[in-house]
Amino acid sequence: MSVYFASDLHLKALDDSNVERFFAFLDEVRADGEALYLLGDIFEAYIGDDDDDPLVARVAAELSTLNCAVFLVHGNRDFLIGQSFATRAAATLLGEETVIKLGSFRALLLHGDTLCTDDIAYQHVRTQLRSRQWQSDFLNQPLAARRAFAVKARAESRMHTAGSAADIMDANSAAVNETLTRHEVLLLIHGHTHRPMVHRHGNATRIVLPDWDEHRSWLKWTAETGELYARGQCERVDV
Ligand code: MN
Repeated sequence: MSVYFASDLHLKALDDSNVERFFAFLDEVRADGEALYLLGDIFEAYIGDDDDDPLVARVAAELSTLNCAVFLVHGNRDFLIGQSFATRAAATLLGEETVIKLGSFRALLLHGDTLCTDDIAYQHVRTQLRSRQWQSDFLNQPLAARRAFAVKARAESRMHTAGSAADIMDANSAAVNETLTRHEVLLLIHGHTHRPMVHRHGNATRIVLPDWDEHRSWLKWTAETGELYARGQCERVDV
């Protein structure tokens, strides 16, 4: 039995090629998965559980057919996933930072955007978007207005990414160390940066999940070791 982790699928529409890749991946999970953790940004944009886009319904339906436990962590694109979607997907929504037991290790799971503390402009926007007031104001708008906002936000985000130095968009090592220490863990798994890699921080290990730009990509954990499938390659991960 294995535990699977994936993030940053950025599914855009039902006819997106990543949707088929995602469902093929779920077949692998179905074969020997004891749990699936989706660590954020499964959707490119998410405007609320009442969205009538068939993509949202289809993803929830597929997830609900898995016979293993499914856990969701919010990404910076799909932080509005709510309990209604989770119920339809037969999944459990986790908090921003969650420690799980993985073999004999304690592993901290998070999306990864909170580690990018050098991106001050982004962190500022994040604080606003995660406020209860902003979210309730947003969810009270009609779907069309929310959709228009999401299109604009994606364009702004692309401009921000293009105009920012690459290292600003990566995890800050002081933030990583602070987070590892705060949770007293030696294993951290996150996505967000689209820079799949196994990093060492002293005796701690940080696994960055791949995005799904061209390949279906995931981390598979069996007993005490992992296999990171990134961009068509498989790397063994020993902690
Ligand atoms: Mn992200």
